[in-house]
Amino acid sequence: MKQKIAYLKGLMDGMKLAEDDNSKLLRTIADCLERIAEEVETESARVDNIESEIEELNNDVDDLDEVLGFLLEEEDEEDDEDDEDWEDDFDYFTCPNCGEVVPVDEEMLQKEADPICPNCNSKLFGE
Ligand SMILES: [Zn+2]
Repeated sequence: MKQKIAYLKGLMDGMKLAEDDNSKLLRTIADCLERIAEEVETESARVDNIESEIEELNNDVDDLDEVLGFLLEEEDEEDDEDDEDWEDDFDYFTCPNCGEVVPVDEEMLQKEADPICPNCNSKLFGE
């Protein structure tokens, strides 16, 4: 586009236009076109930049998606393990006072003969 405008200006110079209002008008129009062409060039360069930046961002988002998916998978696995641990380490007793089902740590059961209900604070196996 810039080349065409340069050609247009050269053409006008070659025509040796008389310095009248018409040629002034034509020169002004050619100058305007030149400026517009420069701005369009700058803008399209900027758009190119933005497009490549968006592409990079998309790649980053893809990477993050992968990492996130990986992390979520790991978390799921950890949750499963936690569930198993929970079942392994705890026995469940129904509190004779409030009827709440209370998980009691097996180790705690071995050390302390009378675990306390966390719901009503009374001893699970009575006095
Ligand atoms: Zn209780």
